[in-house]
Amino acid sequence: MIPISKPLLGEEERQAVLEVLDSGMLVQGRRVQEFEQAFAEFCGVRHAIATSSGTTALQTALMAHGIGAGDEVITTAFTFIASANAIRFVGARPVFVDIDPRTFTVDPNQVEDAITPRTRAILPVHLYGLMADMPAIMDIAARHSLVVIEDACQAHGAAVGERMAGSFGTGCFSFYPSKNMTTAEGGMITTNDDDIAQRCRLIRNHGMSEQYLHEAEGYNFRMTDIQAAIGLVQLRRLADFNARRIANAAYLSAHLRGVIVPYVPAGYRHVFHQYTVRVPDGRRDELAAGLAARGIASRVYYPLAVHQQPYYRELGYRAILPATEQACREVLSLPVHPALTPQELSQIVEAVNEIL
Ligand SMILES: *Cc1c(COP(=O)(O)O)cnc(C)c1O
Repeated sequence: MIPISKPLLGEEERQAVLEVLDSGMLVQGRRVQEFEQAFAEFCGVRHAIATSSGTTALQTALMAHGIGAGDEVITTAFTFIASANAIRFVGARPVFVDIDPRTFTVDPNQVEDAITPRTRAILPVHLYGLMADMPAIMDIAARHSLVVIEDACQAHGAAVGERMAGSFGTGCFSFYPSKNMTTAEGGMITTNDDDIAQRCRLIRNHGMSEQYLHEAEGYNFRMTDIQAAIGLVQLRRLADFNARRIANAAYLSAHLRGVIVPYVPAGYRHVFHQYTVRVPDGRRDELAAGLAARGIASRVYYPLAVHQQPYYRELGYRAILPATEQACREVLSLPVHPALTPQELSQIVEAVNEIL
């Protein structure tokens, strides 16, 4: 079976983990700081704060900006549930607006229309490795004095022009094994704001500013040095991983027939966390079954949008988001990960073209 994703971990990661185990400094040691510094440099920002996951990065960032009960945060429903759940975890209300059907990311025009006196923040998601329209979103945020929190959990190394994902607003990344780089579990917050960085550091470690002095409400959202050691190696390999994803995507887009291939707006670097096509005429599930029969994994990200999930229905969400709901019915992600061989790539192309 050709898997939909595959983390690439080797001798360097193995050695890095063993060094941490031998050092005895397992948590909040040298490696976490080194990883934070390297990641901040990579994104072109002043600060990076490591966390236990992408979800806790989002929750910490929202808390650090003082977003809580009574506040509304405008976001997309076409995402992994954690983007919206993090907003709920701080007591705020996610307000879902529709996507641009070409990019699958939040439509800035709809963001503007959804602003109310309670709106405090916009939380765009850089889905599948393609950044949302950040120039437009930053412009809206500036005009309405709103906070911007980028869910960059699928977008390590993505860019608009020269500017990296996580460098526009407060950025949140995940290092789950399926992402473009991994630390097993793990997350990172990026910011240029000294004050927000300091608050994030407090929140992720029990609100503690010095030994047993607790200045703020906080949690245990720390990353271990074992994870950071893996992350340092993976970050060095990320440029190569992403180059291979981009090359694999270019091959697929040049050869696939009968599907709508991913759209990349001019000036954007799409890092293809997922290679996601639209399958027209209701043939998506037939294509997925045909691929499975030929030993090729594919997956639907996401079959239900957040507002359609049972738990959100129960909360009373009744939004109608036509572009989001159509995407849920039509999208299919094909393998694009850096471990694919040229043979596997042509196998995928032949299978898709034959089935359709
Ligand atoms: C993976 C992911 C998250 C959550 O990250 P975890 O590390 O799994 O907590 C949040 N948002 C998006 C868009 C993701 O893909």
